[in-house]
Amino acid sequence: MQYISTRGGMQPLPYSETLLEGLAPDGGLAVPEVMPHVDAATLEQWRSLTYPELATEVLGLFATDIPRDALALMCAEAYSAFPEDVVPLRSIGDGLTLVGLSEGPTLAFKDMAMQFLGQVLEYALEQRDGVLNILGATSGDTGSAAEHALRGKARIAVFMLSPQGRMSAFQRAQMFSLDDENVHNIAVEGVFDDCQNLVKRLAGDLEFKRSQHLGAVNSINLARITAQVVYYFWAWLRVTDAGGPTPVDFTVPSGNFGNILSGFFAKQMGLPIRRLVLAANENNVLDEFFRTGVYRPRAAAQTLATSSPSMDISKASNLERFIFEFVGRDPERVVAAWRELDEQGYFDLSAEQARFDEEFGIVSGTSTHADRLSTIRSVYETSGDVIDPHTADGVKVARSYVEAGVPMLVLETAKPQKFAETIREAIGIDLDYSPDLQQMLDAPQYVAEMHDDEQALRAFITKNALH
Ligand SMILES: *Cc1c(COP(=O)(O)O)cnc(C)c1O
Repeated sequence: MQYISTRGGMQPLPYSETLLEGLAPDGGLAVPEVMPHVDAATLEQWRSLTYPELATEVLGLFATDIPRDALALMCAEAYSAFPEDVVPLRSIGDGLTLVGLSEGPTLAFKDMAMQFLGQVLEYALEQRDGVLNILGATSGDTGSAAEHALRGKARIAVFMLSPQGRMSAFQRAQMFSLDDENVHNIAVEGVFDDCQNLVKRLAGDLEFKRSQHLGAVNSINLARITAQVVYYFWAWLRVTDAGGPTPVDFTVPSGNFGNILSGFFAKQMGLPIRRLVLAANENNVLDEFFRTGVYRPRAAAQTLATSSPSMDISKASNLERFIFEFVGRDPERVVAAWRELDEQGYFDLSAEQARFDEEFGIVSGTSTHADRLSTIRSVYETSGDVIDPHTADGVKVARSYVEAGVPMLVLETAKPQKFAETIREAIGIDLDYSPDLQQMLDAPQYVAEMHDDEQALRAFITKNALH
């Protein structure tokens, strides 16, 4: 299996060579040259597999350049920090089932992909005897998932910028309690966009990037997208019985269009998914797109700070991979759409809007702060289950699309403990922390403080990077 660019300007590359790159050299994103296909008989054979075994089968279709036994070891190692069933499912009534993606070390679904990415990066670096310094900016979940996946790795160091004083106490503890030598937390005086701009300036300096072996693990990373495909198969196998291709619906709380894109890959691979329901919060650029066909990203200043903060995104970096399929894999149409976007601030597919649902099964909805509170409350009252605000956005939107006879699976993208204030506001209770979490919250913290100063950051990286 080789990977090509959505914009048509990249020589095909094997899986492990797309990992260390961000964008393709032509500005596009890497996609499989041919989407792998799984037939019904193979799907049935996968019913008895454990999660790491299933991951090996699914990822083996994408990572054909990695020997099967090496891949199996990586998958076993990646999911060893999770409970035995890795992704547990539970019913919350009204035809809805939650898919528990947040059982990993940082209590959010990003661990599912990041833990695998840590394994496969280490493997690729060993093969080429290289080192990698990951430079990123985070407002919370991504940074902590990356650090927990990469801590202690010999060939990788992490430099993670975060806005000083703007993360929750829980998020700070999750990142800053790590005292591994290869993890560098940098609190920047400024907001998230200032952090992001520093990263962009350094990563845009190609000479510096090359000499310092800089890389990224952001949401366009192909290993992350493919690792997320696995749990759609897993969840389908858990809620259906052998003996028929039972279609199911999935609802996905969305921001960068990464998680739901993986569901779209699973559907294209032949998994019987009827509909993919995209749930947005008040930052509903994607809901607007799927309802109207017009994609109009918003500026950072127009992005609201909400109580489901990991979905506060107004420019969906993975959407281009869906558009590529939507326009029949024609790179010229992709380039034209993004040119329109650059020139006029939007692109318009409204003439073909009906195809989103009819051909691709994608529909969408929006959930607000009031919806989150009432959904957390109603789920608590009917099932005794406490769900986090992002999952609540999913449940709220799922309820408007659920149909009798079709299982509706809602992805649980975080644990409520991460968002204790909103839970208190919704149901008036203080959640208990496990002894491990309490220990993390009480642990000493390691973080370097820095002005919003490019030169200071360059000096810090040059001094601490692996070479
Ligand atoms: C990252 C994140 C999302 C959004 O996922 P995308 O892949 O960006 O669409 C939703 N919920 C939580 C808790 C997250 O951390």
